[in-house]
Amino acid sequence: KQNASNQGCCFYSQEMESEYILRKHCYSLLKKAITDNSVITLYQPIVDAHSGQLKAVEALMRIQDEDGQLISPDNFIPIAEETRLIIPLGEQMIQRIFEQLHHWSQDGLAPRVCINISVIQFVDPNFVPFLLNAIEQYQVSPNVIELEVTESLMIENIDHIQQDMHTLRALGITISIDDFGTGFSCLSYLKDLPIDVVKIDKSFVAQLSAINTQDILISTIISLAQNMNLASIAEGVETIEQAKALKQLGATCLQGYYFSRPVAASEIKDNYNI
Ligand code: C2E
Ligand code: CA
Ligand code: CA
Ligand code: CA
Repeated sequence: KQNASNQGCCFYSQEMESEYILRKHCYSLLKKAITDNSVITLYQPIVDAHSGQLKAVEALMRIQDEDGQLISPDNFIPIAEETRLIIPLGEQMIQRIFEQLHHWSQDGLAPRVCINISVIQFVDPNFVPFLLNAIEQYQVSPNVIELEVTESLMIENIDHIQQDMHTLRALGITISIDDFGTGFSCLSYLKDLPIDVVKIDKSFVAQLSAINTQDILISTIISLAQNMNLASIAEGVETIEQAKALKQLGATCLQGYYFSRPVAASEIKDNYNI
């Protein structure tokens, strides 16, 4: 953000106004996506670090502007969370994803599916009932569902959250910690809560290069995961060198542009080169 003090108050108010207009525009696009049922779901493959086989896909939300351009979640998720529109948007995502699981199984693909759930969604008392109802309605096996949450959820001291996590786990649903290591949180939740997977944030993976194939933070996270019997998924893998280094370091699965960008469901394949 530019410092307003030496720019004159005129600049400042203009900037404020254009930000306000952008947010209002975004809000109306979100509302429209909800009423039109037009939330778009892209999928990014997550591959086995050894075989390159498709293990899972991460579902990633997009909305469109008036011209049909896709808008990045970094631009709309914060607004969707502040306005709580993330709840109906997230519900639509889940319905879309569950429909897609049927299409894939008809095509002989059976990926697990990772669904991003923001804290706002997870703490909502309707979240678990909605999910269970959708599982029933769309006849989805809970075993293929992985919910990605961030560490910020672990510090929410709401009684029903722990209970909900155990309920979901008991059904066979997996919970993974997204952006692991970036949340500045105490790690004790790893032994208290039913977590199965940590996702190594792309900021750590970016440290690996052709010359630098070792990184103390990544190897520590992978060892921690191994010692706690957790799977590890490295995200943001952009180069073959990074893929090879992560495989060497013992990461369970890999995800990133090196394999594929997030794509339409029809472009998901069952094997990727590693
Ligand atoms: P995230 O959950 O950490 O998702 C991974 C992001 O990294 C995605 O950005 C993905 O496109 C991007 N990415 C994947 N591989 C690479 C790579 O090799 N290099 C780089 N530089 N980036 C890579 P995207 O799709 O823009 O999503 C951004 C964030 O928005 C997500 O971060 C997630 O926090 C949020 N988000 C996306 N979809 C949903 C959703 O359905 N619900 C909720 N609550 N949040 C979502
Ligand atoms: Ca994620
Ligand atoms: Ca992430
Ligand atoms: Ca993120």
